[in-house]
Amino acid sequence: MVVLAIQSCSGRTPEPPATPSRDAPVVIVGAGLTGLTLAYELNKAGINSLLVEAAPRLGGRVQTITFSDGATAEAHMEEFFERSPAVALLRELNLPLSEDVAHSSVRLDGQIHPYQGEGARDTYLAGIFNEEERAAFLRWNAKAWNLYSQLHASHEAGTPLTPELDALMHISFAEFIAREGLPHKVSEWIRVTLEPEIAIEWDKISALDGLDEMRLFLDSPEGFGEKNYHVLGGNTLFTEGLAAHLRPGQLMTQARVTAVEQTDSGVKVRVLQDDRQFLDITGRMVVVTVPVNLLGRIQFSPSLSREKWQAIQTTKMGSYVKVHFRVAPEASPLWEVNGENVLTLLSDSPAGSIYDVSELQENEQQPRDRVLTLLLHARFAREVMNLPVDEMREKSAEALDTLFPGVRQHIRSSEIFVYPQAVAYWPLELGRSRFDALANELRRPQGRLYIGGDTTENSHSEGAVIAGLRIARQIIERRNELREPVESPRAAAR
Ligand SMILES: Cc1cc2nc3c(=O)[nH]c(=O)nc-3n(C[C@H](O)[C@H](O)[C@H](O)COP(=O)(O)OP(=O)(O)OC[C@H]3O[C@@H](n4cnc5c(N)ncnc54)[C@H](O)[C@@H]3O)c2cc1C
Repeated sequence: MVVLAIQSCSGRTPEPPATPSRDAPVVIVGAGLTGLTLAYELNKAGINSLLVEAAPRLGGRVQTITFSDGATAEAHMEEFFERSPAVALLRELNLPLSEDVAHSSVRLDGQIHPYQGEGARDTYLAGIFNEEERAAFLRWNAKAWNLYSQLHASHEAGTPLTPELDALMHISFAEFIAREGLPHKVSEWIRVTLEPEIAIEWDKISALDGLDEMRLFLDSPEGFGEKNYHVLGGNTLFTEGLAAHLRPGQLMTQARVTAVEQTDSGVKVRVLQDDRQFLDITGRMVVVTVPVNLLGRIQFSPSLSREKWQAIQTTKMGSYVKVHFRVAPEASPLWEVNGENVLTLLSDSPAGSIYDVSELQENEQQPRDRVLTLLLHARFAREVMNLPVDEMREKSAEALDTLFPGVRQHIRSSEIFVYPQAVAYWPLELGRSRFDALANELRRPQGRLYIGGDTTENSHSEGAVIAGLRIARQIIERRNELREPVESPRAAAR
């Protein structure tokens, strides 16, 4: 107010702030895992890029939160699976990882089956199934692994799907399982294992997409499911680790891209900086890594192809709600069976999947309240996500108390994060699969523009890293089109 009064008294029109001039061979929209992986890989190849991020922080859907007593939890993504290229990247960055088996305790038809076996398939299965069910499971597993292997090989090679795989694009995963005539308990195990991964019900996705997801849990020549990994101290260390390799000035935050234009000589990207100042960034290529549900907020010139828009508009997002309960330490026997902690538990109840993340803390010595994270998925998330958080908390506490009677009175505090649009799925009712022609079309560049992000690949961080690595490879192959030669960091160091 005072400043305005002085200016008007002086009679001078205030000078607009100088517009920063920005130019980079590659402009990357979004500094989540996709954008950061891409910038990291391009840097290694000596190609400079500029990351433009709308939020004040980097990382997107990778976000570790720290409570006032120093305990941490994940607001967004939880774990990385073994075959994901994210794990190789985590190792390359020398980050401390905690490793765990693929499977968890599971609640089927109201009965909790505590995890057993330390990764040994038969011990685990014996804790859930009788002999007949176990044999049926293994027969189905062999078929599913065989189909997945064919799918994976054809996807990697870019060859057409076999007629058998193609047919699986046109029935739901639920229907595929029903046709197998499996015992009820086996079919329930498959459903309860799958749905938390994709944040949507199993009858909403194609059998092909379901098989792709189930690969995480199948017995294969490499072992019984894929081990999973957390970064000790929080997954944010991953995105920060990638960002630590950025050059000074390579990242703009609080910079929302509103328009992407391809010109004769390159690209022009319009950015709203700090919610108040528009500025133009120029480059030779642009990669937009925002999730599909946000692509419609950016103007594209020339417009994205009809097929790309169709792909974007028919990719949908499943829902998650994350509830973090801080629970008094003396309550922990309540989630033990025979002295063993049964968490992680896939509960198939309004309590969702329950993780005890107390073990992932950097400093285990410190006495502190336990951290229980509830990941509510699909219908369990949709049922509460529009309620006031007070009601969400009460319903979640009640659901947890139903599983572990008495725990509710030990809850000391809670924090809740709501994600109506959490991760992508390809709805069968719209004729979609993540392996269809539209999905392939979205992954193809349009001139100097690439669309990336996890939602162009699958429903996990794996998709983000796959997209980042793929686009890096493609840009490196086209490096002569970046025109302006860029000195590699190695050469600069010599
Ligand atoms: C609750 C939850 C739990 C999950 N759990 C797991 C899990 O256990 N394991 C797993 O593998 N995956 C999990 N995921 C998925 C995982 O978080 C994502 O796959 C991954 O983080 C996506 O990275 P990304 O870079 O592709 O997208 P994002 O992280 O969404 O990054 C996109 C970035 O673009 C920015 N942006 C958006 N619009 C603009 C604009 N106009 N201009 C500039 N910047 C913009 C955003 O602010 C964001 O930073 C989970 C997701 C959620 C929501």
